[in-house]
Amino acid sequence: MRYGILGDIHSNFEALDTVIRELRKERVDRWISVGDVVGYGADPARCVDVVRELKCTVVAGNHDYAVCDRLNVDFFNAYAREAVLWTRKVLSREQMQFLEDLELISVLDGEVTVVHGSLNFPEMFDYIQTSYDAHLSLQALTTPVCFLGHSHVPVTFLQGQTVSYTLDPVIRLRDGERALVNVGSVGQPRDEDPRAAYAVYDSKTRTVEVKRIEYDVEAAGRKILDAGLPEILAERIKYGR
Ligand code: ZN
Repeated sequence: MRYGILGDIHSNFEALDTVIRELRKERVDRWISVGDVVGYGADPARCVDVVRELKCTVVAGNHDYAVCDRLNVDFFNAYAREAVLWTRKVLSREQMQFLEDLELISVLDGEVTVVHGSLNFPEMFDYIQTSYDAHLSLQALTTPVCFLGHSHVPVTFLQGQTVSYTLDPVIRLRDGERALVNVGSVGQPRDEDPRAAYAVYDSKTRTVEVKRIEYDVEAAGRKILDAGLPEILAERIKYGR
């Protein structure tokens, strides 16, 4: 089985559309989104429709839950909050319901686990930043690999004898080895590389590839300004911050 994995999309249709075109060339059997389909960007409705049309397995991100009021938006920074409030106004009732119905964790084919933040406390939307954070999630992992997002920075934590991490874009899992793969972000990368991030996983060869692709950042930024969203949200996608 070949899985196409979409990192945090964040209402960036230009990035999402480009990534999907690339993934179609990879002969993907199943589509996965690690959550945060909405928030920050100017095309929430379109992005929700696209993942639904793909029959994508989507888990809830903190922005998805904030938009449908399953998470308190008061803890968001001012820009994120403004985008959440704006997103509420432009989504249909059905699109809101889709976000509200998202689960925190999904397990596919006994092969792949999907979560937005951490596996041990998915409802807290914590970041996995240290080997210890990774250890706690790896203890809760029941499949060889887990895909996640949230930090918008691609990194893989591996459980062998100990927990290690790698920034390698290609990971071949050895027998008995397990991995937490942060696939980065489609719509708002934060690793100083503005190109959209996504991943492909082949369960037969147990190989993950995290990939990058340029997209029309200018167009996405213009839409953010035209929507009256904070200027900084249009700026940061140009620099990948
Ligand atoms: Zn996010």
